[in-house]
Amino acid sequence: MDYHKFIEIVDDWPKEGISFKDITPLMADGEAFRSAVDDIVNFAKEKQIDVVVGPEARGFIIGCPVSYSMGVGFVPVRKKGKLPREVIEVDYGLEYGKNVLTIHKDAIKPGQRVLITDDLLATGGTIEATIKLVEELGGVVVGCAFLIELGYLDGISKLEGYEVLSLMKYE
Ligand code: IMP
Repeated sequence: MDYHKFIEIVDDWPKEGISFKDITPLMADGEAFRSAVDDIVNFAKEKQIDVVVGPEARGFIIGCPVSYSMGVGFVPVRKKGKLPREVIEVDYGLEYGKNVLTIHKDAIKPGQRVLITDDLLATGGTIEATIKLVEELGGVVVGCAFLIELGYLDGISKLEGYEVLSLMKYE
């Protein structure tokens, strides 16, 4: 399915110069959302994944239905101060800002095969930080899946050597 018609483009939000891709109309359409999740499930099925990892907040929206459909677990990556037990952390840069991401120290077992999901690949800072967290715990990142890739921000250059699925690409 071509999902472009379900994406609303909001110029100059949240800051001037940013062309924000709003995925909420895609989530709101039952058929389109299921189809997008199924596309990611099909990508992940070939990779025999043990667990799905997603950064907050929109990585949860994509990752949770994928993990449910495949019968594997979901592990959240969250901003500093949000996870209640012992974490490891990494600094990262965003398209619009800076932040720290964390993961529970016992969330991934060494050797587990991990699919990382997020709604959108922009500069690649978020996915790079998430990969670092997973690999520091001994996980093996076997794929990264996004609804949208912003080609003009070249986040894909941070994912060399990883298998990547993007359902839509904006140039
Ligand atoms: P990156 O770290 O620069 O690749 O930015 C990706 C992260 O920022 C993802 O977690 C997205 O949810 C969020 N993000 C950046 N730009 C957009 C956008 O245009 N629409 C929706 N989310 C965005």
